[in-house]
Amino acid sequence: MTAVPSTSSNAQNPEHPQNPQNIVIVGNGQAGIQLVDSLRKEGYTGAITVIGEETHFPYQRPPLSKDFMAADKEPKPLPLRAEKFFTDNDVDSRLGVRVTSIDRAGHTVSLSDGSSIGYTTLVLATGAANRELNVPGSGLEGIYGLRTLADAEAVHARLDTVRSVVVIGAGFIGLEFAAAARKRGLDVTVLEYADRPMARALSPVMGNWFAQAHRNLGVNLRLGEGIASFIGDGSGQGNDGQASERGHVAAAVSTTGETYPADMVLVGIGVIPRTELAEQAGLSVSNGITVDSAMRTDDEDIYALGDCANYPSHHAEARTRLESVQNATDQARHTAKSILDTHDGGRDYTELPWFWSTQGDLRLQIAGIAHPDDETVLRGNPDGGKFSVFCFRSGRLVAVESVNQPADHMAARRLLAQERTLTPEQAADLDFDFKAYSKAAAAGV
Ligand SMILES: Cc1cc2nc3c(=O)[nH]c(=O)nc-3n(C[C@H](O)[C@H](O)[C@H](O)COP(=O)(O)OP(=O)(O)OC[C@H]3O[C@@H](n4cnc5c(N)ncnc54)[C@H](O)[C@@H]3O)c2cc1C
Repeated sequence: MTAVPSTSSNAQNPEHPQNPQNIVIVGNGQAGIQLVDSLRKEGYTGAITVIGEETHFPYQRPPLSKDFMAADKEPKPLPLRAEKFFTDNDVDSRLGVRVTSIDRAGHTVSLSDGSSIGYTTLVLATGAANRELNVPGSGLEGIYGLRTLADAEAVHARLDTVRSVVVIGAGFIGLEFAAAARKRGLDVTVLEYADRPMARALSPVMGNWFAQAHRNLGVNLRLGEGIASFIGDGSGQGNDGQASERGHVAAAVSTTGETYPADMVLVGIGVIPRTELAEQAGLSVSNGITVDSAMRTDDEDIYALGDCANYPSHHAEARTRLESVQNATDQARHTAKSILDTHDGGRDYTELPWFWSTQGDLRLQIAGIAHPDDETVLRGNPDGGKFSVFCFRSGRLVAVESVNQPADHMAARRLLAQERTLTPEQAADLDFDFKAYSKAAAAGV
């Protein structure tokens, strides 16, 4: 059954016999909260219940590895919406409660507080969880992940007391944190087993440029060197000076046998999608919850979106799972229309993926999806820290990566969204007016 806009005056009481509609959203992160917003904007007046296992008011994750770590600012979370949003939109928001199972036949979910809720449409916006390290010494105190506000608060508190930091993994979060720690004047070593940073998402030319940029900041970036083990301080004490069976981390040993002093360690080795509920409910799962291009799972009353969802990507020309604010937000807008059947165009999700990462003073922006073997063309001035890399596949522009070049990024988004291309020669030619060209493309000229 598909939910349709309700006209009931008892919209907020899902148990009310005249108002059987209740859209239940599991997860109150970027995707879940945007979905609430979009459902109301699309005219849905029935009940909405949002369930989030974290106890905090819904907040934005991106600042946690950036401004939140600054020494000179109070670490305050940025809310995803003002508190008023939830009352204005009649949202039944449950914090600190986990959905433990789904009864698809009965159309109910069970909660960790022992209650259950009926749904007409269920949406899984469960996000992702940090991938955990499993090397000797991983259980020592002072080794952190960074996904939640609770993680960020623990890391921030620790930063005030340390001198040397080791970061495991030169992905976006690891490098954002490394740059923030350097800004505090700390000794920072980053261990990365690949031969360049952010290798999964960036062209080699941009990845190599970032490697040098971080070294220029004073980061001891060790490429081709993974983590082998951690050494404890043997004190038998944890962060708080209290007795701890585990003891506290003192050093990291890399796969090449080097030892790096570590008063604390940040592990940033990627995430795994939160698919446990979907699996338990017998939904199809493969690197995320499998959805169609309307964001629907193989149960017609259950949708999934954001970090946890694996969808057929028009731009990647393959099934994919993305981890970004844009992805969560645009998929939420699309899902609202799919649930309410209010798509004015087709039901296929085709939004262009884009992403940003702020590493110290370097602002990286990516439009489209690059592959490591794409042909690349450089435009701008890498030595001056302002340039873009245009990625071509079979002669077609597929992605543009920009550093401190927001105008290129915006132009690239306009162009790629229209599926218009340009030649590698045009991309390289600084006299070619890329901005005007992309504006004309967007205007259909
Ligand atoms: C430190 C950090 C920095 C980032 N920086 C950037 C950036 O610069 N740019 C960018 O584009 N993206 C960035 N991201 C990624 C971006 O924040 C995510 O892609 C986005 O938050 C995904 O939204 P989501 O709603 O899918 O998942 P989430 O935001 O993870 O929300 C999912 C929520 O569901 C809850 N949940 C899961 N299972 C259950 C259950 N069974 N019951 C109840 N609740 C449940 C989880 O606890 C979580 O709160 C960053 C992420 C992190 C962690």
